[in-house]
Amino acid sequence: MTTRADAERLDAADPLASFRDRFVIDEPDTIYLDGNSLGRLPKSTRDRLHALVTQWGANLIAGWENWIDLPTSVGDMLAEAALGARPGEVVVSDSTTVNLFKLAWAATEGPGKAIVTDSGNFPTDRYVLDGVANLRGLELRIFEADPVDGPQSGDVAEACAGGDVALVSLSHVAYRSGALADLPGITAAARKGGARVLWDLCHSVGAVPIGLHDAGAELAVGCTYKYLNAGPGAPAFLYVRKELQNELRTPIQGWFGQRNQFAMERPYDPEPGIRSFLAGTPPVLDLTAVECGAELLAEAGIEPSATKAAALTALIADLHDEWLAPLGFELGTPREPKRRGGHVSLRHPQAWQICTAMIERAKVIPDFRGPDSIRLGVPPLYTRFVDVWDALDRVRALVEAGEHEQYDPTPTRIT
Ligand SMILES: *Cc1c(COP(=O)(O)O)cnc(C)c1O
Repeated sequence: MTTRADAERLDAADPLASFRDRFVIDEPDTIYLDGNSLGRLPKSTRDRLHALVTQWGANLIAGWENWIDLPTSVGDMLAEAALGARPGEVVVSDSTTVNLFKLAWAATEGPGKAIVTDSGNFPTDRYVLDGVANLRGLELRIFEADPVDGPQSGDVAEACAGGDVALVSLSHVAYRSGALADLPGITAAARKGGARVLWDLCHSVGAVPIGLHDAGAELAVGCTYKYLNAGPGAPAFLYVRKELQNELRTPIQGWFGQRNQFAMERPYDPEPGIRSFLAGTPPVLDLTAVECGAELLAEAGIEPSATKAAALTALIADLHDEWLAPLGFELGTPREPKRRGGHVSLRHPQAWQICTAMIERAKVIPDFRGPDSIRLGVPPLYTRFVDVWDALDRVRALVEAGEHEQYDPTPTRIT
């Protein structure tokens, strides 16, 4: 039996507990478990954006002096705080979707007849890879990964066995199940088969240590509005290992990737290094929000953050087993803490109705991922152990009482 007092004790012993006060929390009764879709607003972001808007009003075009290098300076901060990459290997630009296209295109310039991914990968990833495969005349080879455990290095070795694969692209943490892929092992398996690997880190950055350099990773993308708390539509990052930077070419030959950008009349001649992967004018307000998010993570440390996230997801798993499994729930996430990221998926045949009832009656905010998953995200900088305890207690009560049955079983447009 896990009591609420047990959860309170975990909070009292939590070295990151004070970080919760660094976020705007206007509704203390509501338990927000969807920070893996859109993170909370850091107070530092609110204040710095206010100052930046004021500066824009005052300085106008002269402000660019301070802003123009943000894509690389914030990229370096993320490289160090979150990604385990070297300076000059990461830029912040565009969306994850666009960055995925840029790197998937660049990685498929050489020989190779196929692109490999798994059927459980995030939709935008599958769509972009399908588009690149069509444009390049390649086969898109989709394997079925285990729906709970996610893709394994054996799956990748098998898909690459013919030696004809140009690119393998996978998510580090599966968006539905939360399974954490073996990034070093899969990278090695794909490299052995002669393929490059492009990782999508959207659901792992800020939740688990990544260690791109040590893993021998070559290419990665990821977003900043989930565990990095940079706000709706904040730009994504991309990583290209230093040794590959001058070999790979972006398909978007923009002027922010051009050598000596303001010498306007010359033909395209890209910057050496990671800057060549920039495209157009950076979103300065959003980049500043990414900077604030990266600073908070750097201050907390990714190792303590990941340790806390693992303890929070373990508490969800324990309470699920005690309270929810008897009500027809099933854990849709690996049980081994080292095999998952910062969220847990609870599966139930009436998941949509339960999800709606949680939001409308229980003031618990999860999200729904069809056909049958309720995702509970526990970003470690602001989620308390009592939040998890209270949330699962409320879910147990409403499902026991059958309160979810009164909601429409058809999902709405945004889930
Ligand atoms: C959230 C997420 C995205 C989002 O891509 P956008 O271009 O920001 O819309 C992509 N891939 C994965 C795995 C995600 O979790």
